[in-house]
Amino acid sequence: MADAAGRFAPTPSGPLHLGSLASALASFLDARAHDGRWLVRIEDLDAPRMIAGAESSILKTLESHGLTWDGAVLRQSERREHYDAALARLAAAGHTYACACSRREIADSALTLPNEGVDGPVYPGTCRAGLPAGREAHAIRVRTDLEPYSFEDVAQGVIEQAIEREVGDFVIKRADGPYAYQLAVVVDDALQGVTHVVRGADLLLSTPRQLHLQRLLGLPTPRHLHHPVAVDANGAKLSKSAGAATLDPAAPGRNLFRALGVLRQGPPAAIARSSAAEVLAWARHAYDPARYRGALTVAAIEES
Ligand code: GLU
Repeated sequence: MADAAGRFAPTPSGPLHLGSLASALASFLDARAHDGRWLVRIEDLDAPRMIAGAESSILKTLESHGLTWDGAVLRQSERREHYDAALARLAAAGHTYACACSRREIADSALTLPNEGVDGPVYPGTCRAGLPAGREAHAIRVRTDLEPYSFEDVAQGVIEQAIEREVGDFVIKRADGPYAYQLAVVVDDALQGVTHVVRGADLLLSTPRQLHLQRLLGLPTPRHLHHPVAVDANGAKLSKSAGAATLDPAAPGRNLFRALGVLRQGPPAAIARSSAAEVLAWARHAYDPARYRGALTVAAIEES
């Protein structure tokens, strides 16, 4: 495919672990399989979640595993004017409104109206017609509707969502400053020319919100592939503290071998002790996302 591009977009909230290495590897292999560029974008909008040194640790780990990216690393913290411009366009077209509701108020509304959505309580539209008297805006929301959005995920099949019913009008900017992930990701994927989004299945049900913003902003929609997320024995997403998730800096080949296990690629035991370059060479030839079709999670075993 001409001008294909994929990306890995980590939040620098800690070093890479087995689950995030698998995600980097999946998007790298997908981009290379399409003769595309592979970009790295640091998603550092949410300052309280950032950990000093995490970005350089992530980039060093990618390099030591042979996952070399194309072009300059992009940081969302340096791209505010692009998000400002997108918000201004949405606002000018009447797609946004200010919202005064606290999380607590939204959660409480669930008591009178059963409204559990795909991402917590559905926003009931309280401020749609304007801020209640005397209240201050906490956030900017984008209007949604009941028209179902549907897309075909390469690994997860057809996904359909009526955003207004399953999520509600969603936040694109907090009043205290930071832009929300949903807006930033759409703006950056478009400006970077990303054609192939490969990421963990924990973001599968965010995709219709991104399709909605792409439609409102007149931006192209990339192809999506959501790979299974590595989980621990209790079914929880692997966290940085989980022992099984730790990468051995002295054994990048072994780490990649284990990451291929998380991606259900069944790498042969013969390459279990091979170098990173050798494991990557095998993967570039053998990788097939059909092996994890329909899987949202994969149990990551201590020694795979
Ligand atoms: N920054 C997100 C994360 O670390 C990934 C976002 C994306 O790939 O769209 O989970």
